Amino acid sequence: SKEPIRVCVTGAAGQIAYSLLYSVAKGDVFGKDQPVNLLMLDIAPMMGVLEGVKMELQDCALPLLREVVATDDPEVGFKDCDVAMLVGAMPRREGMERKDLLAANVKIFKVQGQALDKVAKKTVKVVVVGNPANTNACICAKYAQSIPRENFSALTRLDQNRAQAMVAEKVGVPADAVKNCIIWGNHSSTQFPDVQHATVEKNNQKMSVIEAVKDDNWVKNDFVKTVQTRGAAVIKARKLSSAMSAAKAIVDHVRDWWFGTPEGTWVSMAVMSDGSYETPEGLIYSFPVTIDSSHKYTIVQGLTINDFAKEKMDITAKELQEEKAMAMEACQD
Ligand code: NDP
Repeated sequence: SKEPIRVCVTGAAGQIAYSLLYSVAKGDVFGKDQPVNLLMLDIAPMMGVLEGVKMELQDCALPLLREVVATDDPEVGFKDCDVAMLVGAMPRREGMERKDLLAANVKIFKVQGQALDKVAKKTVKVVVVGNPANTNACICAKYAQSIPRENFSALTRLDQNRAQAMVAEKVGVPADAVKNCIIWGNHSSTQFPDVQHATVEKNNQKMSVIEAVKDDNWVKNDFVKTVQTRGAAVIKARKLSSAMSAAKAIVDHVRDWWFGTPEGTWVSMAVMSDGSYETPEGLIYSFPVTIDSSHKYTIVQGLTINDFAKEKMDITAKELQEEKAMAMEACQD
């Protein structure tokens, strides 16, 4: 049987991790024949809670779950790890300015970048979920120079899933009949959910989403706005941020990165920009990507970008540039 892989989850005592850890441990991400060692990282005050999570994981008696480590030391949590899911981040508190939140969080990701650099495998795949996710990933990569930049990503899959489900409902098909919705840019309210290149299959017939929906106003306005603000709508209703759907999106993101995407299908991931689609290089920007069977992703090239899309893509790039500048400054002090 296979050797166990080492998977680290940070913010492991939090609510997203509570769903995520179970999915990873039962084989939803790395397959039903791949044993896993779980490395759970959180801050010192959460160690009691984390022990409880560890007990529950053990009590699930999962055949693929081998070692379970609970720690508050990043150098223990990231030791030789193959995959790191960086979920933990400081939550926004009332009255806190965006700038203060950003400063507090980028410092966490600077420390984690340095620890990954020191102890993780050089092949480690990193996905950042904690907000501001794109900019945190950018800082993390910057402080982990010995690890290739391509190994760092931020999660926009939840936004993609929301977009896909929303289109499916509008057209009246199951969610998996909709393909190739794109999220461009930042995981924030400036993101651009784009269905211009998406397709849908209905009654055994494949057509473009634009054709199926026949409602340009919906595509350009309601749809975009609803996807952009869905996170806030969940918080308002649940009095807590999305957790089940966030964990499911992390599973989708890492599973596809690990195994690859099916022929003709792409997924959205925030990755280091190489200047594709005239986005500034060096930003962690969400693009449509295809992934091969050796964990290598390629940004989908050659999609036509109309003026409407271009404007939206520039707005979110500009926000990322501002965040990056603020983050760089915060890392100095
Ligand atoms: P959650 O598990 O609900 O969320 C974790 C992070 O994910 C938050 O920063 C949240 O950002 C972010 N996030 C990104 N995208 C989404 C999305 N689409 N939906 C929901 N959340 C999203 O937070 P908890 O407070 O329950 O748990 C966080 C844990 O992290 C705590 O246990 C805390 O102790 C820990 N922590 C760990 C650190 C470490 O390991 N070094 C450092 C700091 C904290 P947003 O707040 O904007 O929703």
